[in-house]
Amino acid sequence: MAAITAGYAIDLHTHSLRSDGALSPAELVKRAAARGVKIQALSDHDTLAGIAEATATGESLGVRIIPATELNTESEWGDAHVLGYFIDPQDAALEDRLRWLRENRGRRIELMVGNLNALGYAVDLVRVLEIAQGGALGRPHLAQALFEKGYVKSYDAAFDTLLAKDSPAYVARVGLSPIEAVTLVREHGGVPSLAHPGTVLGLDELLPELVAVGLAGIEAYYGEHTPEMTARCLDRARTLDLVPTGGSDFHGRGDHGTDLGGVFVPPETIERLESRRGRA
Ligand SMILES: [Zn+2]
Ligand SMILES: [Zn+2]
Repeated sequence: MAAITAGYAIDLHTHSLRSDGALSPAELVKRAAARGVKIQALSDHDTLAGIAEATATGESLGVRIIPATELNTESEWGDAHVLGYFIDPQDAALEDRLRWLRENRGRRIELMVGNLNALGYAVDLVRVLEIAQGGALGRPHLAQALFEKGYVKSYDAAFDTLLAKDSPAYVARVGLSPIEAVTLVREHGGVPSLAHPGTVLGLDELLPELVAVGLAGIEAYYGEHTPEMTARCLDRARTLDLVPTGGSDFHGRGDHGTDLGGVFVPPETIERLESRRGRA
């Protein structure tokens, strides 16, 4: 991993080992603190499991942890992920629902391992589970297993080839639609924001539908956005009364991507998001 240099103070999109990140929640918060992050949302996919550990570490290091999760969705809208902020990490009913989603993820990865084996790629489910270390299973774990075996030149190349949607090994997820994801966050008292809108297909058609069920934010500030994409998101935020949010989406895997605190997020964002609690 690259040397630690200073980042910005707010990061509202980060992943730990409890989903598909590489660092434990404590290690992740330590790295964020070393980068100068003061407010961090832990937004592991479909789980609240890392929040208590992150919060405890944050308290000792002066980092405010905002409890969050990122819900993956399955629909014709492409990769439409929904961030849910200010959820209650003790919410047992939400954790039950998330567990159902995680179990589906596990079955899907098992099926993909089977497909890869049938295609002649000898990846081992046991190794994939080891890589995940108990976190919510996803394609990143398969990518690492393929890379370790030398079947792909890099971790990223796995996503572009064997794990891509048009690959014969690909298995679609079973899960929530984007509208169901926004609704779920609202039902549990959270504040939903649409993650990395650049990966959504038909963004301008989807946004009003999500706003109608309570979407409150849009992730305008994101490392992989072009200036045009950021401007487009800020424009939609104005016209649809959404709070522009942002974050690194740091996973700590591979050398690519944005480091913790690597994206500027305006300080007023936190207050604006908090003002959306309880009102759709
Ligand atoms: Zn995402
Ligand atoms: Zn993410």
